[in-house]
Amino acid sequence: MASFVTEALVLRVFDFGESDVVVHLLTPEIGRLVAIAKGAKRSRKRFSGALDFFNRLRVQVDQRPLRPMARLEHAALLHAFQELRLSPSRFALGCYLLELLGRLAPEGGQRGDMQRLFAFATGALSTIAKREPDLRLRALLELRALDALGFRPELGHCVRCGKELGPAGEVAFHVADGGALCGACALRIEGLLRVHLGTLRALEQGLRLPAERLDRLTFPDGALREARRLLARFTRFHLGIELRSERVLEEILSAAESRARPMDSGALQEGART
Ligand SMILES: [Zn+2]
Repeated sequence: MASFVTEALVLRVFDFGESDVVVHLLTPEIGRLVAIAKGAKRSRKRFSGALDFFNRLRVQVDQRPLRPMARLEHAALLHAFQELRLSPSRFALGCYLLELLGRLAPEGGQRGDMQRLFAFATGALSTIAKREPDLRLRALLELRALDALGFRPELGHCVRCGKELGPAGEVAFHVADGGALCGACALRIEGLLRVHLGTLRALEQGLRLPAERLDRLTFPDGALREARRLLARFTRFHLGIELRSERVLEEILSAAESRARPMDSGALQEGART
């Protein structure tokens, strides 16, 4: 592959040397791509201020097999997602998703998978742009991000024997196996996460619903807390580290939730890191 044109979402930007800029992009063609924009700090003409995170661009990239890093030749701004810079919650959730994608999106992934991942990423930023996010939306977008990245957890059947879970009550969730376990398969395994089937059903629905209908999804009592604990462990397992943006996001969303529901002790507990 030499020179090609693609859409791209800017995940990260940093200065490199005196005049260059390095950008981390998510593309629908090949997934994640790191490219150097030569002279971008001196000459704004070729990039016209487009190199900022959250920006959706049309870019021309030159990629050669023996070159350590692709070159960004041109970039034109298609959409800036300005709303994400208007409130701390939107900004923090947007940054968290970009960081998650930057860590887990593959370089040189299959085109069909990368198109789906790109559609998720731009759709998620549009969702955050339209409404002030809360803990519920954060959990749903994180789950859908994991799904789009190829880490969809098994929520309806035992991940070991395939038996359908249910009809009600608690089951165990095995983070490393990537899903829930039936009672028989969970025997003699320690350290499993206990979770109600209602929580798993709500998460399953969160994967099925079209993005514009996510607002209608409510979690049963206590289920959001369980869902958040499950997702936190599952995401951490795949990342291996805590994202830089995670703690700030937790603080901002939990504080907003406490302000919105000051008399609800459940909401306050949701704010506590578990
Ligand atoms: Zn089983």
